[in-house]
Amino acid sequence: MPFVPPATDLPLSATTRAFLQGPFPLLIAGVSRPGVAGETLATFDPATGAHLADVAIADAQDVDAAVIAARAAFEGGWGRSRGADRARLIRKLAALVERDADLLAEVEVLDNGMPIGLAQMIVGGAVEMLDYYAGWATRIEGTTTAPPAHLTMFGEALTYTVREAVGVIGQIVPWNVPLSMAILKLAPALAAGCTVVLKSSEETPLSAIILGRLISEAGFPDGVVNIICGIGEVAGAALVAHPDVDKIAFTGSTEVGKLIVRSAVETMKKVSLELGGKSPVVVFADADLDIAVPGVAMATFFLQGQNCMAGTRIFVHEAIHDDFVARLAAHVATYRIGHGLDPATQIGPLISQGHRDRVAAYVESGIAAGARVLVGGTTPEGPGNFIEPTIFADCTPDMAIVREEIFGPVMAIERFGDEDLDAVAKRANDSVYGLSGSVWTRDLSTAHRMAARIRSGHVSINCHGAVAANIPFGGYKQSGWGREFGKEGLDLYLETKAITARL
Ligand code: NAD
Repeated sequence: MPFVPPATDLPLSATTRAFLQGPFPLLIAGVSRPGVAGETLATFDPATGAHLADVAIADAQDVDAAVIAARAAFEGGWGRSRGADRARLIRKLAALVERDADLLAEVEVLDNGMPIGLAQMIVGGAVEMLDYYAGWATRIEGTTTAPPAHLTMFGEALTYTVREAVGVIGQIVPWNVPLSMAILKLAPALAAGCTVVLKSSEETPLSAIILGRLISEAGFPDGVVNIICGIGEVAGAALVAHPDVDKIAFTGSTEVGKLIVRSAVETMKKVSLELGGKSPVVVFADADLDIAVPGVAMATFFLQGQNCMAGTRIFVHEAIHDDFVARLAAHVATYRIGHGLDPATQIGPLISQGHRDRVAAYVESGIAAGARVLVGGTTPEGPGNFIEPTIFADCTPDMAIVREEIFGPVMAIERFGDEDLDAVAKRANDSVYGLSGSVWTRDLSTAHRMAARIRSGHVSINCHGAVAANIPFGGYKQSGWGREFGKEGLDLYLETKAITARL
């Protein structure tokens, strides 16, 4: 697999160079400032190990100040603001994100490692997400229904419902697609009339800092959006435990999701969770391999496999198995690995050395368990947290590489025969997760019958992970609670109040 070591002199724009001069503050109550304790955290380019910035981090006092600011902004007018006014501000933010798209994309590559083409696509998706939820801000409506009989027997009465903003929201996001994660949480919350304390990941704080600047420039009232970076166990835990936060919206690992649920029970705050995955990909004998080979490869290796909806358990019909895996291995062997700022790069580094070591240990465990390496499996020499995309054939359901979320570029292939669809689905569903999945076949009936049998929140046919602002996304089983994107994503930030009047 071609590995191009990162150049020492990266082609950075003048705007990005200026941004990297700092400062990298918290945004609390409309003020950009350091944390009360003055602590900072270093962030690094995962492709080179180069130091990028020392960002301000929040402790429990800063979290408290951010929650107080969000509460004041909610009570001070945002919670009862007109949808049209919120829509105008969200659209203004969309226009500013579009204006600064090049800066955001470059910074996302430096902080996270993703290829630049993907970063540009993600910034475009963030603009669409803001526009989409700006549209919903003026379409929040209740219903009327029949009033209770014990009132109408004495005279006239009226019952109607209104949708109201949930209140102050704590949003906690991971590092794998940092800007996208921040926007897909902020946009529906702001459209609904909530105020927010958003905590970015300690691994990738930079694009959220730019977003904070744009939010101030757009003219959102102070305190409506507060952006903090901080250690999960400190700032994240303080946000979850805070008695004046009405709801936590979390994206991250299932392990931390469980901690959040336990903590939130104390204050009975609402919780929505987007968690881990280990999604199945089922390739039938009649699949169009010209589409399936690159498509299945990307299902696993998109974002270096650091993707919650990655399809990592591949079930291939035995009639095409050998041909399919040979073509898949040949295709993946051509992937170019390198720095994300090189436009030819297809596979960037993993987020950290620790994570790379963790993924490498899974590769070792697959070999030790008897799976067959078709391609990849080694870590290139030199700086940066690179690892080759790895395909294992002859996997069995008991192997750790099949059961556990690796969150890296590791594919595990199993084969199936002429058993009926229920039997194939049983194997595909043999996971504690249920986030995504895909079916590859030319037969419409097989495609839809299999899609109906996969126990997950999102299934694609002849493609994988086909998400967009308007398409609900979320997990069955231990992959989460609730749905983001689409109208269901807005509902996460709305309460329903029923009002009955005796007239
Ligand atoms: P993580 O759970 O380690 O961290 C996520 C966030 O939680 C970070 O901001 C972190 O600081 C914070 N955090 C950590 N401990 C905390 C605590 N005790 N209290 C409060 N907050 C805490 O996850 P990660 O490594 O950043 O991301 C990878 C995981 O995210 C994978 O499991 C992946 O599947 C999942 N993910 C899911 C989706 C989805 O939509 N379902 C999307 C992206 C990533």
